[in-house]
Amino acid sequence: MNGLLAARDNGERKWMYPLIRKGTYYKWRSLLSYVYLVLFFCGPFIKIKGQPLLLLNVIDRHFVILGQVFWPQDIYLFMLASLVLIVCIVLFTVAFGRIFCGWICPQTIFMEMVFRKIEVWIEGDGNKQKKLNAAAWDKEKIRKKVIKHGLFLLVSFLIANTFLAYIIGRESLLKIILEPISLHWVGFSSACVFTIVFYMVYSQVRELVCTVICPYGRLQGVLMDEHTLVVAYNEVRGEPRGKLDKTGLIVKGDCVDCSLCVAVCPTGIDIRNGTQMECTNCTACIDACDEVMDKIHKPRNLIGYFSEDMVRSKKKPSLNLRMIGYSSVITIIMLVLCYFIFSRTDMDITIMRGSGMLYQEQPHRFISNIYNADITNKANFSRTVTLKAEDPDIKIQYIQPPGIITKGNDIKIVFFVLIPGSKIHSFKTDVRLQLISGNKVIQTVTTEFVAPINN
Ligand code: SF4
Ligand code: SF4
Repeated sequence: MNGLLAARDNGERKWMYPLIRKGTYYKWRSLLSYVYLVLFFCGPFIKIKGQPLLLLNVIDRHFVILGQVFWPQDIYLFMLASLVLIVCIVLFTVAFGRIFCGWICPQTIFMEMVFRKIEVWIEGDGNKQKKLNAAAWDKEKIRKKVIKHGLFLLVSFLIANTFLAYIIGRESLLKIILEPISLHWVGFSSACVFTIVFYMVYSQVRELVCTVICPYGRLQGVLMDEHTLVVAYNEVRGEPRGKLDKTGLIVKGDCVDCSLCVAVCPTGIDIRNGTQMECTNCTACIDACDEVMDKIHKPRNLIGYFSEDMVRSKKKPSLNLRMIGYSSVITIIMLVLCYFIFSRTDMDITIMRGSGMLYQEQPHRFISNIYNADITNKANFSRTVTLKAEDPDIKIQYIQPPGIITKGNDIKIVFFVLIPGSKIHSFKTDVRLQLISGNKVIQTVTTEFVAPINN
């Protein structure tokens, strides 16, 4: 039956009018969505050490994550982060199914916690919306539709601008807003296109994003198994479905076949038919069924978080060893990635001994080696840098001095290291060189110095 409920027999799309039940899960999801929305809309205004919280400027290839600046030179970290993300998604899905979709996915949060709430506020619950859509166009219907779509456009415009701020930075966005449009045609057009895209997604496409378009949803079938924790119906307890008899007693299983779980489902499926690809684990059916169970004085959780295995073996929902194991692996991988990200310096230097002559004898019994260095400035500002040997007796002579390195750029320098002959005790000597910017030692590197030992 997968997908069939989203379409009528004639192939037309079946529009969803889900009812809302404000149960325990709905309240927790609402709370989480408020935190999420505050973070999303305030994100462009939050700065960490002068850097934005998040900036994904693909145009200038400049990225900032949690105040850490990344340039194209850090591509290896992005590759690593992408790999880690893929591994985490796979492990997380194997253990916890589509929990991400129901609780954290921006599509679900904006659809169910923003646009759906606006819709219910203006047009009423699912049944009233259906009635309104079927009714002839009168003043009331026009008024409601104009207000609803006006608000949808307004919220889409806000989302589009915030989204743009994460790409081009809030300063550039403010310029687009405050300066004449003629100076910012590209930026202004992008804001308009994003607004229309978001408006179409949340007013028209809606649940089809999760059930048809999203590739993650399509992957569920191969990632989940009988041990995966998902929103599921406890058929052992619920079947055979029955109605209450005249005395108020259930004559069969605990499911009274009221269909409320189907009426609240935003993707229009019946969870009693088993785990389905269209289920976003939004928990609406859990809340609905809990409400029914309360009314008929039966224990809650006829629909709840279960694995197939738990239902069959009549075990209570709990974290099994596999879930704990996968969660631990995800945590360790994430910690390693964080270590790589936060332990990186915002300058990098690579020093290589020059090819050709191994060493040169210089006046006053100094021996010199020639080096090439590549210095990268990963900070978001220009820097003046210089090199210095840790040992004050060792001198540096530049052929090509460093000077200023602009943000996100690198320079190449060539220099001699001169060591007094009296300090040479072996053919190869380790020399420690400091990269200095603004009287601060940014990095110390050890390089090899070659000289004859008869000095
Ligand atoms: S809400 Fe619960 S009792 Fe009602 S049909 Fe669904 S599973 Fe059965
Ligand atoms: S079946 Fe339940 S959890 Fe799945 S999408 Fe429908 S209401 Fe949400």
